[in-house]
Amino acid sequence: MGDLAATVSATRRKRAAGALRAVLRAGLDLALPRLCAACREPVEGPGLCPTCWSKLAFIRRPYCERLGIPFVYDPGPGILSMQAIADPPAYRRARAAVRFDEISRALVHALKYGDRLDLAPMMGRWIGQAGGELLAGADALVPVPLHWRRLWARRFNQSAMLTSAVSAASGVPVASGALKRVKATAQQVGLSRAERAANVQGAFRVPEASKPTVIGRRLVVIDDVLTSGATVEGCARALMRAGAANVDVLVFARVADAVQTSI
Ligand SMILES: [Zn+2]
Repeated sequence: MGDLAATVSATRRKRAAGALRAVLRAGLDLALPRLCAACREPVEGPGLCPTCWSKLAFIRRPYCERLGIPFVYDPGPGILSMQAIADPPAYRRARAAVRFDEISRALVHALKYGDRLDLAPMMGRWIGQAGGELLAGADALVPVPLHWRRLWARRFNQSAMLTSAVSAASGVPVASGALKRVKATAQQVGLSRAERAANVQGAFRVPEASKPTVIGRRLVVIDDVLTSGATVEGCARALMRAGAANVDVLVFARVADAVQTSI
């Protein structure tokens, strides 16, 4: 009990110090020029410098209508990738604002670990533009939840930050308690596709009290990065099992090696 109290009090101290640093940094932001989130050159306003901005790879059609992965050539409207046909996901459609590369990774890391919360509205607007069709038919947005232990250590959930920003840009409300992470999963980084799927197996659940916000509703799961898709697949499965009408997926960046068409 004594050990636990000591751990809790140390964590509280760390959180208080972190919060204080964030306040000081917010104060400094007023006095110092902002830095480009990727190359750290001073910039006007938030976000990226013009050079890094021009390198950002926005994802546009032609892409697989199901998975949202860009095609190497334009096969015509409505064509699915072989991947979507061979191994269809639990979600209906996925869209991403940009490819996951050096520049988008810098933005994601700055938001996640660098206290650059000022980036969220801009990233949220880009996600909203990429997912316009999905948002037009959506009842609510669902952020990918963090396990409470990781949330406690990191102080905030970057998916929830982006979800709030997408909600502000689109007017679609957030169903924040719709999903719960019931298993503290290992970091996905460095795991194979099969290991990632096993890692998130049974990790998400719709709490009994949240079922009314899920049953019969058209939901959009929001996350920062889509790599193998195992995390959003786990979320979509849990929501569909709980009675959602359908689930779409919207992310800021996705790993997107161009795919072949089904024909
Ligand atoms: Zn830059």
